[in-house]
Amino acid sequence: MSKKLEGKVAVVTGASKGIGASIARHLADEGAAVVVNYSSSKAGADRVVGQIVEHGGRAVAVQADVSKPADVRRLFAETKKAFGKLDVLVNNAGIYKFAPLSEVTPEHFHEQFDLNVLGLVLATQEAARLFGPEGGSVVNISSVVATLAPANTSVYSGTKAAVNAITRSLAQELGPRKIRVNAINPGMVETEGTHSSGITESEMRKGVEAQTPLGRIGQPQDIAPAAVFLASSDSAWITGETLYISGGLR
Ligand code: NAP
Repeated sequence: MSKKLEGKVAVVTGASKGIGASIARHLADEGAAVVVNYSSSKAGADRVVGQIVEHGGRAVAVQADVSKPADVRRLFAETKKAFGKLDVLVNNAGIYKFAPLSEVTPEHFHEQFDLNVLGLVLATQEAARLFGPEGGSVVNISSVVATLAPANTSVYSGTKAAVNAITRSLAQELGPRKIRVNAINPGMVETEGTHSSGITESEMRKGVEAQTPLGRIGQPQDIAPAAVFLASSDSAWITGETLYISGGLR
């Protein structure tokens, strides 16, 4: 059976760990050549590239801090150099920090908005320049918090609500160029990030599981197949959508 992304080139931001790493592997398994972006974890990115190559795929690791405009430009220049073109961008790099209103600072705000929102817009801008006449697919990793908006997450939830709105707006703007823009809104997923921040070991996890119809938190591989679907021509007439993958939690 032919692979869904044979001959395609994809950039996945923040692909050295967690959800991004799983998406990179799944895109490569379907035949895409993948740029595995990372910020600080070279070893993690090299591991993901190694796993892809072991499975007969093509991938390169490219360091770039996606919150920095010059780094974003370099990421896409390196992509062109490595694979000559671009068909798919997965805007996955993101950070989550929770704080009650009394502890919100400009640093807390800018750290999250600069990566989760500005970085996503800048990366999409560069991708739109590189996509060819046949268009492209942008997959934004948003979150259930975009609409669930729990207490003590005002800034993080705000970044993801912005991602939902940007997804809708850019889908309309870029549709005439055959560029599709969709979002995946995961519920709580067990990743390096949710472990190191203590979320997966917290009372919050138990609360989330109690409210989730399917009764558990997610794994990265619960998310990645949907990114393949949105990247491929199986979703050729789908744009501007937000797909919740959260075990039924809304
Ligand atoms: P994670 O385990 O913390 O991994 C984050 C990834 O992003 C790493 O590869 C990291 O690279 C990269 N990254 C961080 N800062 C970056 C920057 N400035 N430039 C480029 N890359 C950067 O994260 P995750 O839990 O998989 O989450 C991934 C995405 O899903 C985020 O957008 C998050 O908001 C969203 N999400 C997560 C959950 C969840 O429960 N896990 C739920 C809903 C939505 P380095 O390691 O090199 O720094």
